[in-house]
Amino acid sequence: MQITITYDNTSTNSAYLADWGFSCYIETEEHKIIFDTGQNGEILRKNMRKLKINPKLADILFISHNDFDHIGGLSWLLNQNKTASLYIPQNLHGIKNHKNLHFIESPQKIAAEIYSTGIVAGDGKWEQAVVLKTTQGAVILVGCSHPGLKPFLDFAQTIAPLYAIIGGFHGFSNYQMLENFQLICPTHCTQNRSEIKKQYPHTTIDGGVGKVLVI
Ligand SMILES: [Zn+2]
Ligand SMILES: [Zn+2]
Repeated sequence: MQITITYDNTSTNSAYLADWGFSCYIETEEHKIIFDTGQNGEILRKNMRKLKINPKLADILFISHNDFDHIGGLSWLLNQNKTASLYIPQNLHGIKNHKNLHFIESPQKIAAEIYSTGIVAGDGKWEQAVVLKTTQGAVILVGCSHPGLKPFLDFAQTIAPLYAIIGGFHGFSNYQMLENFQLICPTHCTQNRSEIKKQYPHTTIDGGVGKVLVI
């Protein structure tokens, strides 16, 4: 499985555009998933093009929550890809014409080895995360983690032992919760990245547009 960060507050290389928001592209043996869309479709388009990712090839589109920095590129993306299954929180309105639309409320399997944690409320937001079941363990993709990481980790542990977590951790500071992960990529809105790195120097890595994780 390969995860490529396509939208982030930082970039690994000046060839890619950094901008506040998050999106990544996940390729498994059977599926190609776009997770969130950043805040600007034009920036997402340029980064994907540079990274040689074709948005038309995705068969799953997943939106973590209804914040501008995660849904801003969605209308561009839906213009590019009219056939992928789109999984969005039930409070995300305004998308009517997409054929293959799924409103998420409770935790569920969305494809083989791919799960939604279901919508978790917190910090005045409604948010879901993706859990991928891999041979190494559970790989979790988070948008901003407004409800905290705990509910997402609790669900992931019902799928497989924790292996990797990638995305925005917001104000997360319960560091002990990360001790069982083999790979931690706190990026986007993560406020305590330097402390996470200090506590887990061998398992924490930097994100940024262009980062490719092979799992
Ligand atoms: Zn965000
Ligand atoms: Zn957010």
